[in-house]
Parts: sequence; C-alpha cells; structure tokens
Amino acid sequence: MHIDKHLDVIAACRFCFMCRHLDPVGNVTFQESDTPRGRALILDTIRMKNESLKNRDFIATIYRCALSGANRCHCVSHYDEVGLVLAARKDIVEAGLAPENVKALAEKLSRATFTVRGKGNVLYYGDHPELYSGCKTLSGGDPGKALETLGFAGDSQKVFDRFKSAVTASKCTTLIVAEPSAYDFLKDKLDGIKVVHCSEHLLSGKWKARPVRKAFYLESDFLKNYDGNPAASRELLARCGYSLMPFGTNSEESYSVGEGAVVFDELDPELCEKLCRRVYDLADNLKTALFITPSRYVKATLAKYNSQIRIVSLEEAVAQRKDRK
Ligand code: SF4
Repeated sequence: MHIDKHLDVIAACRFCFMCRHLDPVGNVTFQESDTPRGRALILDTIRMKNESLKNRDFIATIYRCALSGANRCHCVSHYDEVGLVLAARKDIVEAGLAPENVKALAEKLSRATFTVRGKGNVLYYGDHPELYSGCKTLSGGDPGKALETLGFAGDSQKVFDRFKSAVTASKCTTLIVAEPSAYDFLKDKLDGIKVVHCSEHLLSGKWKARPVRKAFYLESDFLKNYDGNPAASRELLARCGYSLMPFGTNSEESYSVGEGAVVFDELDPELCEKLCRRVYDLADNLKTALFITPSRYVKATLAKYNSQIRIVSLEEAVAQRKDRK
C-alpha cells in the first residue's frame, strides 16, 4: 500500500495533537477525525487491517481533508501529513473504492484538452493574457494536479502528457503559470522549460508609484505551504501600491477555503461553504474590505457563497494599477 511509505508520519501524528488548530476542516467540523492525528489513527488501523480500507466513514474522512499544508508547514519536524493523505487516496482508488462523486469528478477532469494561440517565445497559462503582451497563450483545463490530488495517478499522467505535448509544440522555453496549484504541479515537471509563477514574471516589469490602497492578502496554500513562501506576490502588490494587512487570528492558519485540495468545492460544497463562512465571520467589514488572492479557485469560491465580498485575483489587482514606467 502507498501509505506504508509514510509510516514515520503515522507514528508521529497518531499521538500528537500539536497542530489541531491549523486544520481548516477540523476548525469547522470540530471533529478529531478531521485533524492530522485523527487521519493518522484511521490510516494506522487500515495499515494493520487491510479490510478497514472498505470503511465508508474512513474513506469520506480522507476525502474531506483540505490538504492546506499548514499543519505540515508549521509542524516542528515537518511531518508530511499531506503526503500521507494523498497516498491513502491512491490506495482507495487502486482498490476500486473511490466514492461515486469522486469518480464522476475524475472522469470530467480526465477530458481536459489544451490549445496554444498567438505568437512569442514565452508561453502564458492563465486568465489574463492582456498582461503578457508578446506571449503565446495556453488554455484548457487543469493540467493533472486535480486528478493527482484525488488519487488518480494514471489519469493525471495522461492529462499531463497532453499538456506537455501542447507546451512542447509551442516551442517556447519559458512557461508563466498563474494558478498556484498548476504552478506547484508543473514547476519541476517540464525538462528544458523554465516554469515561473506569474508574480515572478510581472515583478520584473517597472511600476509607477501609486497611491496606497489597503488590502487583505489571502496567502495561497500552494505558494506559502508547499513552495517555500516566495516573496514575489507580496512584493509585486507592494510595488503596485497595495499595503497588505494581516487577516484572521494568526499567520499560520489557511484561509484559502480548500485550495490545497484543488477541487474541494466541487467535491463537498456544503463543507466548503463552512470554510468560507469562517472567512466571512473573521472579516471586520466584508463590504468595504478589499481581499486579494493569487488563486482563481479561492476568488471564485469565496464569491460564490457571499456575493458581497470584494475579492480580486492577484493579476486583477495588478491590472487595476498596471501603468508601468
Ligand atoms: S503534523 Fe506534526 S504537529 Fe501535526 S500531528 Fe503530525 S507530528 Fe504533530
């Protein structure tokens, strides 16, 4: 079983409760099973008794995880509780035990195709080509990250192969990626192609000094907890005149409403709405505050459950102040 490669995590997490306050799902369900410790106890049971993998409550708990990475990031020994859950999902899928809604979502994601348009030596993969003049654009669905996150490794590879063929056919040697989940997935996967997050590319431009505008920046699970927390997004926003204020009760918690699980809202909208309500409740004034997120998933999800929130993507925030020097 794939979970056998994570016995150190099971051994460490099953008796530890140190990071319980950082699990986004545990913070809204108040169930011990929705913490790294609860999941490690479940997977320890499965490890010892294979038959337990068929337990539908166990399977539902493993798919309820938001995979924010906040627990792993702030664990003093950085135990890979995310890797353990992803391994468990692979075991569930390979045993033919994936829930029907997960299978249906995987089937939909497997149909992703990709198209390249325009001229240039640099390829842009995102929603705002107007910010990247002189670049080709790549459009299509998720490049395989969502399927990988759901435990469908083989299908993820097939989608990625199609994505890679499109990139290779473009003959570009640099790929700019906007969505953090896609950036995390692609950053080490394309030999001979330099993969950069859009913030890094945009930061290389020169920006006019602008009047200061206050905003709450909702950190990305991927950029912050998976990819070393690069400063480029925050620096870019500062150059564009945004004064970023801390949000929530602490700087360790994820407020990205399931971004780490990529398709969390499609999988469990009821639970996702609870994550969103926690963010709305923590905001002093949802109607007047400005929120910025690097993730289109986070923007769309937070706007879905309360249309009063003023939230823009990182690229939209830049586009609103895009007069360069
Ligand atoms: S991730 Fe670290 S802090 Fe959290 S339960 Fe596991 S060992 Fe404890």
